[in-house]
Amino acid sequence: MGEAVIFFGPPGAGKGTQASRLASERGYRKLSTGDILRDHVARGSELGRQVKPILESGGLVPDQLVLALIREELSGGKAPKVIFDGFPRTLAQAQALDQLLSEKQVALKGVLLLVVPQRELLNRLVKRAQLEGRTDDNESVIQRRLEVYEKDTAPLADYYRGAGKLMQIDGTGTQDQVFARIQGALNGGVR
Ligand code: ADP
Repeated sequence: MGEAVIFFGPPGAGKGTQASRLASERGYRKLSTGDILRDHVARGSELGRQVKPILESGGLVPDQLVLALIREELSGGKAPKVIFDGFPRTLAQAQALDQLLSEKQVALKGVLLLVVPQRELLNRLVKRAQLEGRTDDNESVIQRRLEVYEKDTAPLADYYRGAGKLMQIDGTGTQDQVFARIQGALNGGVR
């Protein structure tokens, strides 16, 4: 039986950083749809050309494109031990993922919701924009991404709470503090 953990939360909450650390310390494979999509854009693939304007505007890539990527990543025989970062982002994606995980006999261990106040998110994203130069990290696109999160993605918290899978994590403080909270939650299970 495989197992999966989902990192969930608004842009700038620290999902990518924490997911990478958990993956390397506990032997998970990290699947970040944002990274995969950016890689397609950088390589100029057919998919990359299709999604580039969407990423640059801060909107969501259509569900069926994202789901095709996830299916491809999870194809192959072995039951995976996987962390999802930035996926699912819509109810349709979450329902499709449930189905996929049950087909592949992968247990969903928990959905980690990283909670960070809106003002702090903006500060972090603006700082990241200066450091990394991501083309979707300018102020108006950041604003759009936060709005899209509130509208399309935040409602998933209720979906996973209803399924008894949601683990709410305080995402403020140092990266070590946040990581310790994540480990505590995963060791203790859903409360
Ligand atoms: P952030 O953590 O800042 O939200 P991501 O790297 O997760 O950034 O995502 C960057 C962009 O990639 C999103 O704004 C969106 O356009 C696209 N994207 C990533 N994951 C998904 C997904 N699961 N569904 C739709 N679009 C996605």
